[in-house]
Parts: sequence; C-alpha cells; structure tokens
Amino acid sequence: MTQPQFITVWVLGDQLLQLHPGLRMAEAAVGRAHVRVLLIESAARLAQQPYQRKKLLLILSAMRHYALELEQAGFQVDYRHAPDFLHGLQAHCTDFGTTRLVTMAAAEEPTRRLQQGLATQLGLQVDLLPNTQFLVGQFDPFPDADPARTPIMATFYRAMRRHFGVLLDADGGPLGGHWSYDADNRKPLPRALHPPPPPDLPPDALTLAVAAEVAAMPHGVGTVEQFNLPVTAAAAQGALQRFIAERLRDFGPYEDAMAERSALLYHSGLAPMLNIGLLTPLQLVQAAEAAFQAGAAPLNSVEGFIRQILGWREYIYWQYWRQLPALRDQNFWAARRPLPDWFWTGESDLRCMAHTLRRALDSGYTHHIERLMLLCNFCLLAGVVPQEVNAWFMAVYADAYDWVMLPNVIGMGLNADGGRIATKPYIASASYINRMGDYCASCVYDPKRRTGAGACPFNLLYWNFLLEHETVLRTNPRLGPAVLGLARMNPDERAVIRREAAAFLEQF
Ligand SMILES: Cc1cc2nc3c(=O)[nH]c(=O)nc-3n(C[C@H](O)[C@H](O)[C@H](O)COP(=O)(O)OP(=O)(O)OC[C@H]3O[C@@H](n4cnc5c(N)ncnc54)[C@H](O)[C@@H]3O)c2cc1C
Ligand code: SF4
Repeated sequence: MTQPQFITVWVLGDQLLQLHPGLRMAEAAVGRAHVRVLLIESAARLAQQPYQRKKLLLILSAMRHYALELEQAGFQVDYRHAPDFLHGLQAHCTDFGTTRLVTMAAAEEPTRRLQQGLATQLGLQVDLLPNTQFLVGQFDPFPDADPARTPIMATFYRAMRRHFGVLLDADGGPLGGHWSYDADNRKPLPRALHPPPPPDLPPDALTLAVAAEVAAMPHGVGTVEQFNLPVTAAAAQGALQRFIAERLRDFGPYEDAMAERSALLYHSGLAPMLNIGLLTPLQLVQAAEAAFQAGAAPLNSVEGFIRQILGWREYIYWQYWRQLPALRDQNFWAARRPLPDWFWTGESDLRCMAHTLRRALDSGYTHHIERLMLLCNFCLLAGVVPQEVNAWFMAVYADAYDWVMLPNVIGMGLNADGGRIATKPYIASASYINRMGDYCASCVYDPKRRTGAGACPFNLLYWNFLLEHETVLRTNPRLGPAVLGLARMNPDERAVIRREAAAFLEQF
C-alpha cells in the first residue's frame, strides 16, 4: 500500500488569513487530513530589535489562536519554537519526513529572500505562492513603470478604483463627480465633540498567558498593560463593524485633527490586524462602501477612508517593491544628526512632541497625522538620519513592518527618497500644528513666535530648513509659496534664524 502524501504549509505570523492560498491549494491536492500547517515562533525574529510589546503580544496570541482554530477545523498543526525560521523548518522536515512545502510569499523582503532559497536549503519541492494580502497583487495598474518616474498616488488610486469598481457611477466615473473629497475634510476637532471610546476587548486566558511571556522578554518597548486588540479574525471583524457603526461617519472631516483627549478620534485602529491577515483590504473597502450605500456614512468620509486602503496602503506596498533595495539607504536631504534620546522617553518641553511620543511608546499607536506632521516633520526639519528614524518607528508601533515602514518613513515622512512617494516634503511650522491640534495652548513655547525667547522650535526649524535648502526647494513647484516667503526676509532675519536654530540643534 502506498503511503499517503502529506503537504506542509508554512504560514508566517503576519499571514493569518482565513482564506490562506497555501491551505486551499494543499487541501485541494491531498485533502485536509493530509495537510500539516507549520507555524514557527522564531527567537531570532522576535529579538531582531526591541519591538513594541503590544505588537509582540498581538502576533503571538493571534498565531496561537489561529493554530487552535485550524486544529479544530481538522488540520494537523505543528506549532514550533525555534532559534530561527530555517532551523524551525529543518527540524519540522526531519521530524515529519516532509517532501513538499507550500508557503505564501512574504510581504517583507528579507523573509521573501529566505523563502526563495528554501528549495535548495531544505532539498525538497517548495511552492512559493503569490501574496494575496494586497489588491495590487491581483492587479498592478502600472507594471512597467520606471522606478525613477512612478505615477503619483492619486493616479494609482484612480486606476485601482476603476479596476475594482469601487465608488463608481453608472458611466464608470467617480461617485459624486470627484475622485477625492479632501477639500471637505481637514477640520480640527471642535471642543464640544467627543469621539466614542475605543472598543474594550478584555484578553482571554490564552492572551493573558502570552502577555506574561512577552512581559518577561528582556527587550521591548512599552508594556502589555491595557492591551485591547482583537486576536482572531472574528474579533477583528467585530472591531471593523464597530468602526463602521460608530466612527466612519466622522472619519473624513477629522482625519487630520490631533487631540490630547483622544488617540483614535474617528480613525479605525485596524492597521495592526490588517497587517497580519486577520482582516483583508477588500473587507474594509466593501464594508465602507456598503455603509455609504445604506446611508450610514457620507461620501466624503467613505471616500476618504477607502482612499487610505485602496490608495495609500496599496501604493505604499507597490512602491516598496519598486524602490528596493535603494530605498533602505536613501538620504536625499543629507541629514546627519542622531535621533534625540528623548524620543525613547518622551521627556521634552515641546508639548506636542512629548505627548505624541509618550502615546506612541505606551500604546504603539498614534494616527497618521501625528506620525507625519509631528514626528517625521520634526525629524526632517531637524536633519535626523532617516535610518535612525525608521528604526525608532519600527520599534515603537504595533502595526510596523518593513514593507510599510520604509516607504512611509524614508519616503513619505522624510522625503529622503528624493520625492518618489511624495512629490514635496511634508513640512510645517507651528501654525499648522496649532490649527489642527490642541497642544499649543498649554505649551511653554509660543506658536506665533519665530525667533527669540519662547519661540516655538517648529517655527525656527521650519524657516531654517527653508533657508538651508532654498536652492533645491525653489526647483519644486509645489513648494513655491513657502519658499517665496523667504524673499521678504532680510539678511539680518536670516542670520538670526540660522544662529538660533544652530543653538537649538546643538542640544542634540
Ligand atoms: C511615518 C509614518 C509611519 C507609518 N508607519 C506605518 C506602519 O508601520 N504600519 C502601518 O500599517 N501604517 C503605517 N503608516 C500609515 C498610517 O499612519 C497608519 O496605517 C495608520 O495611522 C494606522 O492607524 P489606523 O488603522 O487607525 O488608520 P486609519 O486612519 O483608520 O486608516 C485606515 C487604514 O488605511 C491604511 N493606511 C492609511 N495610510 C496608509 C499609509 N500611508 N501606508 C499604509 N497604510 C495606510 C492603514 O491600513 C489603516 O489601517 C505610517 C505613516 C507614516 C506617515
Ligand atoms: S508651541 Fe510649538 S512645541 Fe509647543 S505644542 Fe505648539 S507646535 Fe508644539
């Protein structure tokens, strides 16, 4: 009698998909009872750098819940602790006499490189399936784009909307006549408005057990206290429904607002679950579109939210693979200062920075504008080395992964890729922060002062950046108005800004 053939499916910790293509393929080939699912907790991967403890807790708890669910569904599961992925794979193959391994291409480049060499290293058949966690994997709107002259996000987004038939009218044009409703958005949060509290998801026994392990790890950022992220696909789906019911309606107008009293405001907080496969981008897009069709949320909010997923998220992933390997080392503005130590403690007298840093360190979350217009804005203006900023973001955020952090920090946040992701640097003085946030009123600095005692450092650094890079900035049409302001500045004022900025930066 011939031995039944088994297939091993190696599922990565950020690929916890309900419809994992490897599982479906293996099941179709040999039947569920002959599919072995391999999940590996790699000590080397977990210790690669000090990570946000809430992120580690999320991934490890979600992996273990996923393994239990698969076992209950009739799969054989081998859940391994190993020094690294390769040792875990080798040990599994030896223990089970594996002859065929199926795995889905990793979203991150270092792990994908490992996967590409596995057939040789393990000496068996390896099926590396395309990654299905991104819609751009199904349809690439610009497959032949020159990496040096890539389309901007808006062009990419329109092509994605058209292809996936999202928010289109009967003629295939954008619903309501516009592709973007940003002009209706970008409002500060009114004092009288109180965003709903974030969902409360008390951890179950398994999550509490993982929390104890993560708390005992020697390196890490933040704590496992007050962890309230969903760790299963069903719970993540519940969080999505709650976002749609409670916050999507006001997402658009207040998506750029910053408030000390609410971290989430009207954002979804779903990125950590989306990035490990507990949710898919299409689920989010369809849920938001359905809310619009049902009259539960207005077009400016729904379109704004869908643009984050179908536009920005997909574009970022697409850019990551186009810009590698150069993206990792880019430093267009020749920044050379180290990251200030206070980024790791939040101890700063710049109120907006102190508050946002502490929020990020404690919870692993701040929303997009705090990441972009406070943290990255500061680092770009202060000339902090992009790779140091990237390492900080990777360590601190619960939704951080190489594919999303590199293009967002090096590209969008610091404009260090020479404008391939964002055609202009996102820089702003205190007047933007004062308009969109509520920190300035209780800050020791004066957001209206540019120089002198009590002047806000954002103002000083903003004008210093314009002066330092005036020649390059003048060539960028999108920065015309900002640079034009320099024309009215006399040599004495220029000298004062340069001198005071140098003194401030000296403290680094
Ligand atoms: C410097 C910087 C670093 C960032 N680092 C990360 C990161 O490590 N991981 C991450 O998932 N996102 C990152 N982003 C993008 C964005 O800030 C976060 O996705 C978002 O703040 C997560 O919160 P949310 O789920 O409440 O998002 P919402 O405001 O509710 O937006 C909905 C979803 O849109 C997606 N999205 C929106 N903008 C982007 C973007 N620029 N890139 C990718 N996805 C986007 C996310 O999946 C997000 O969950 C970064 C942005 C910047 C400027
Ligand atoms: S005054 Fe300047 S440093 Fe203080 S909170 Fe406002 S922008 Fe931040």
